[in-house]
Amino acid sequence: MALIVHKYGGTSMGSTDRIKNVAKRVAKWHDAGHQIVVVPSAMSGETNRLIGLAREIMDQPDPRELDMIASTGEQVSVGLLSMALLAIGKQAVSYAGWQVAIKTDSAFTKARIQSIDDEKVKRDLDAGKIVIITGFQGVDEHDNIATLGRGGSDTSAVAIAAAMKAQECLIFTDVDGVYTTDPRVVSEARRLKTITFEEMLELASLGSKVLQTRSVEFAGNYRVPTRVLSSLTDPLLPLEVEANSGTLISFEEDTNMEQAVISGIAFNRDEAKITVLGVPDRPGVAYHILGPVADANIEVDMIIQNQSVDGKTDFTFTVSRGEYARALAVLEAHREELGAASITGDAKVSKLSVVGVGMRSHVGVASQMFRTLSEESINIMMISTSEIKISVLIDEKYMELAVRALHKAFELEKA
Ligand code: ADP
Ligand code: ASP
Ligand code: MG
Repeated sequence: MALIVHKYGGTSMGSTDRIKNVAKRVAKWHDAGHQIVVVPSAMSGETNRLIGLAREIMDQPDPRELDMIASTGEQVSVGLLSMALLAIGKQAVSYAGWQVAIKTDSAFTKARIQSIDDEKVKRDLDAGKIVIITGFQGVDEHDNIATLGRGGSDTSAVAIAAAMKAQECLIFTDVDGVYTTDPRVVSEARRLKTITFEEMLELASLGSKVLQTRSVEFAGNYRVPTRVLSSLTDPLLPLEVEANSGTLISFEEDTNMEQAVISGIAFNRDEAKITVLGVPDRPGVAYHILGPVADANIEVDMIIQNQSVDGKTDFTFTVSRGEYARALAVLEAHREELGAASITGDAKVSKLSVVGVGMRSHVGVASQMFRTLSEESINIMMISTSEIKISVLIDEKYMELAVRALHKAFELEKA
């Protein structure tokens, strides 16, 4: 007997029929003698609908109140799933985050989990119940509901698995694993049987939304065996088959010398770039430009500063598209003080990244990437690299073309 955490995403919970299928799948695992905690997301489209309602009332919804609203989708899901289990004769009980309690900080809309009290859950499991806990939400020290950021149910599930020392965390979703790139963009994308934790962390943080980045961090920090697999197969698929399906995140150093140099391609459409033109090139220029942006709580990603000409330089950086207007306004307010000639920007850019631990032992990945993009006449606006990734910023209209060309150039469709 083992404790296993199951997470089901929005599509998997998308209708009452799908919820009945989830119940059958969960019952199958419970019948095999396991203790099961289930963490569902809101039904697909529901969180967007709730945020939309908030925006009809307030352009920039108050974050605390927004979380009060956005968190409710998951509460409906846990109740429905619990009923679906009761209806097929299983014992089940559902809890909202605050009832467990899952404690978070007070950073509404992007809160971090601080602790999980698993006492009540353990008692229920020992009494033979299946426990269903809302994803995406927790409660701060003042009893305010706080959500964990979009896609946050992944993080709830892995954090619960870590706190309860579960044998495995199974992330059931609408694809049957982690692919070399988003299979909805490149039909030749190939499912990976395993992926190293480091690569998964890079892919997630560079835009592959199959897992929320923080869930991968939890998996790594607490060594939670985590697997991504399909919820859309027959729920009565033999358990031994299901248990080995999908993609397992591995924590072993990959010793296979023949491994691919590149494991995957990630992209993020949600980018914008801002250029401050003609600033005096003197010590402190980066600080004076990025200081006010940081003070406004806006995260900056890629940065370049040009060679100075006649003592003046241009400075370019990227922010997420949702923060573009605010970042421009912050800089405009400081333009005179900065001595900048002008400030321009472009919110129609995308970031594309190739990721692979094999890059550590291979040279020439960057030149192959740049050659492939040049053959497609795609202009690179910015570049950033780390030990296991190379990212480029390009015009968003070439993003899919670029992903397909790179997937082919690095032969990712081949095992
Ligand atoms: P859920 O609602 O189950 O949390 P998400 O929509 O958040 O599901 O994540 C699953 C989606 O992630 C897939 O439908 C797929 O389009 C997308 N995706 C992006 N990159 C990848 C990748 N490398 N491998 C698999 N899926 C990916
Ligand atoms: N329902 C939340 C969202 O849409 C959390 C999740 O799906 O993981 O972002
Ligand atoms: Mg998700």
